[in-house]
Amino acid sequence: MQVKELSAERGPLLLVHGGAGPLRADLTRDELLRGRVAGLRQALAAGWRLLAAGGSALDAAQAAVEVLEDHPLYNAGRGSVLNALGRVEMDASLMCGRTRKAGALCGARRLRNPIRAARRLLEEGRVFSEACAIEAWLSAQGETLKPPAWFITEDRVAQLEAARGTGRALLDHEGELDRRSRRAARLGLGGGDDAGTVGAVARDLAGDLAAGTSSGGMTNKLPGRIGDSPVIGAGTYADNQSLALSATGVGEAFIRTVFAHEAEARVRLAGQGLAEACGAALERVASLGGEGGCVALGRREGVLAFNSQGMYRAWADPAAGRWGLAIFQEEVLEGGRLQELTAD
Ligand code: ASP
Repeated sequence: MQVKELSAERGPLLLVHGGAGPLRADLTRDELLRGRVAGLRQALAAGWRLLAAGGSALDAAQAAVEVLEDHPLYNAGRGSVLNALGRVEMDASLMCGRTRKAGALCGARRLRNPIRAARRLLEEGRVFSEACAIEAWLSAQGETLKPPAWFITEDRVAQLEAARGTGRALLDHEGELDRRSRRAARLGLGGGDDAGTVGAVARDLAGDLAAGTSSGGMTNKLPGRIGDSPVIGAGTYADNQSLALSATGVGEAFIRTVFAHEAEARVRLAGQGLAEACGAALERVASLGGEGGCVALGRREGVLAFNSQGMYRAWADPAAGRWGLAIFQEEVLEGGRLQELTAD
């Protein structure tokens, strides 16, 4: 288990993840990896820019997730993984820690930014919906929907081919060894894995917390399968009294352990520290054979924790005046002064 803690009594904080899973150590040399690292930095920069200017935690978490949904190398929005029929079905959720209002949807096929639709649901008090009705509702209000084929990338088609051979649904980072060489040959690149589900947690100047998660789910999943990402209390949770959390990993285990709420209840009811609570909740996931991780913010601290080989993750740490980005265990791949954090 890898756990990183940031401490900050007050002021803005932002953590972003781009999915967890079994990763290869030599991925750091990969062109595709560099693209993903840039995406993670852009997401952190987009959210941080809002927070630093006094924006709300909800806006910042949403903005960070939107950047990764728009990034074709992450498993959310365009570039989402494909189900067993070769289709994209996306899940997303967003929660505000101050009001505990939430918006979540599952099975989206035509929404460029599912997290924006989750925000609309949150604002309308609709909480949880299958996405077909939401797509029709938003379209009637002038939102442009994308054709389902727009979301499908060449990479994801190759990934599905490889996953079909295993006869299982795979975490986005799994099965990369075969895929890596096949795709590398086809694209003329150095190979690599595919980054996963995305999420962000934010705390703003007022001390409000928010969490958002967006995902295409698991490669080769059965049509209609819903992961933990849109399930409030499993993949996402926010309550100003305790924490904001966004999870990634094998969704079934995160749902069965009610992961985010398990960590939340440990903080709120048992008085555990955030790192201890997230670690214990991840152990329950592991006890069901699951793996993954989460980013979480409490009232005084931030935690990035995972029990898989790696997790794409980035943090803005105002106490240290620095930002950082990592994929494997302790390694900081990139980082710098927070004041100089930009999307480029
Ligand atoms: N948690 C997501 C799901 O099960 C997958 C992931 O995090 O990569 O749908």
